Amino acid sequence: MNKRTFIKLSSAMMASPIISPLVGAMSEDKLKNWAGNLEYGTERLSSANSVEQVQEFVAKRNKLKVLGTRHCFNTIANSADEFLSVRPMAKIAALDAAARTVTVEGGMSYGQLCPELDRKGFALHNLASLPHISIAGACSTATHGSGDKNGNLATAASALEMVTAAGERVQLSRKADGETFCGAVVGLGALGVVTKLTLDVQPTFQMRQYVYENLPMKAWKDGFEAIESSAYSVSLFTDWQGEKFNEVWLKSRVEGGKTFDAPEEFHGAKRANKNLHPIAELSAENCTEQLGVPGPWYERLPHFRMGFTPSAGKELQSEYFVPRQHAVDAVLAVERLRDQITPHLMITEIRTIAADDLWMSPCYKQPCITIHFTWKQDWPAVSKLLPVIERELAPFKVRPHWGKLFTTSPAQLKSIYEKLPEFVQLSKKYDPQGKFRNEFLNRNIFGG
Ligand SMILES: Cc1cc2nc3c(=O)[nH]c(=O)nc-3n(C[C@H](O)[C@H](O)[C@H](O)COP(=O)(O)OP(=O)(O)OC[C@H]3O[C@@H](n4cnc5c(N)ncnc54)[C@H](O)[C@@H]3O)c2cc1C
Repeated sequence: MNKRTFIKLSSAMMASPIISPLVGAMSEDKLKNWAGNLEYGTERLSSANSVEQVQEFVAKRNKLKVLGTRHCFNTIANSADEFLSVRPMAKIAALDAAARTVTVEGGMSYGQLCPELDRKGFALHNLASLPHISIAGACSTATHGSGDKNGNLATAASALEMVTAAGERVQLSRKADGETFCGAVVGLGALGVVTKLTLDVQPTFQMRQYVYENLPMKAWKDGFEAIESSAYSVSLFTDWQGEKFNEVWLKSRVEGGKTFDAPEEFHGAKRANKNLHPIAELSAENCTEQLGVPGPWYERLPHFRMGFTPSAGKELQSEYFVPRQHAVDAVLAVERLRDQITPHLMITEIRTIAADDLWMSPCYKQPCITIHFTWKQDWPAVSKLLPVIERELAPFKVRPHWGKLFTTSPAQLKSIYEKLPEFVQLSKKYDPQGKFRNEFLNRNIFGG
């Protein structure tokens, strides 16, 4: 699907007053994911404007998938049958200043929420590299940002409303439903259609972002704890050549807590004197402001700006969550593969994430670092490389990102997700016939 069709599709979705079929008749283009590497298995896409419409739609179907903003690289969101989009449901439903929570509708993106939330004096604890993604899609796949003390984005969720396979409206909360809620938040799209999410908020804050160039890898290995804890959010980028991190992005809060004083030199890396893109050849115009210029949290926590193409566009992505105690060994293991990796790579990013208690989160009960790969869009080459990387990382019991490309076997997934059997039971409770299951879920979660 080209850009024009997508704009047409987006505005049709925003305007449509009733459940409406969106693609099919309107375009000869195929419906694809954001990166264009995946042509979805059906063109049948309808949108809903209200919970009642979602209920009616779901009750009448035998099989469907909810589509968010289509930013996953693998087939987790794919359907051979039919899609439902709740993107027109994109309003703030409630802001409870006393309880410090915001409730958003299931189609809202971070890009839509954050400026409004900031205007009302509040902030989220963290964001991913881009604000373009839907909040429900991000929470469903345990999408994360960076920061030693920051859990993934789903950890902000304190309640949710979803429409189950029977078309029933179910409300779950951290307080009232405990373990069931922990199982449902990172739901992989398997439990129902998320129509509302309540997120924890905090008073709005300002941030500064600095980028340093050429951090020797040895300095990172020796100073791992000091470097990772030096700012609120730390991201390291490398092409694996030259035993260095090409760029280190440090995001620090201006007021409260520890602020970063931005020396000229940081563990052997030099402070950059112009804005940079993580992929050095690309324009920094697409990136959030750096050079220590203070700005609102939602314009510093993501690397990429709303309204601009994030990352490279035509690309593939993979990412592995490594239990934090294996961080240095795992990075060394990947570094040994550098000459196989670099020809196919645009950039690698290393981030840290706090532990959580969400069953299907890769950070369940363990703080992690993530090793991320932005690949050139050459699936035949990347598909040969992933098993090699996964073999090297296997001793560390790494968990792949649910929305990115991996070849980890279902048996391995089962062995590294201790809550997977309970998650299967929970899914069956809300979707006994597998209405929301697709080939990805059947293979990786439900065992064929
Ligand atoms: C350029 C780029 C940068 C990225 N950066 C990061 C990053 O920094 N950190 C990170 O962790 N990931 C990152 N990702 C991955 C991506 O953001 C996540 O995988 C996220 O899931 C995307 O949300 P989406 O709405 O686009 O999901 P989709 O691909 O549309 O759907 C993903 C899953 O969520 C389900 N879903 C969506 N909406 C609902 C709903 N309302 N109810 C129930 N289920 C629903 C779908 O059924 C599907 O199973 C990046 C991706 C891209 C393309």
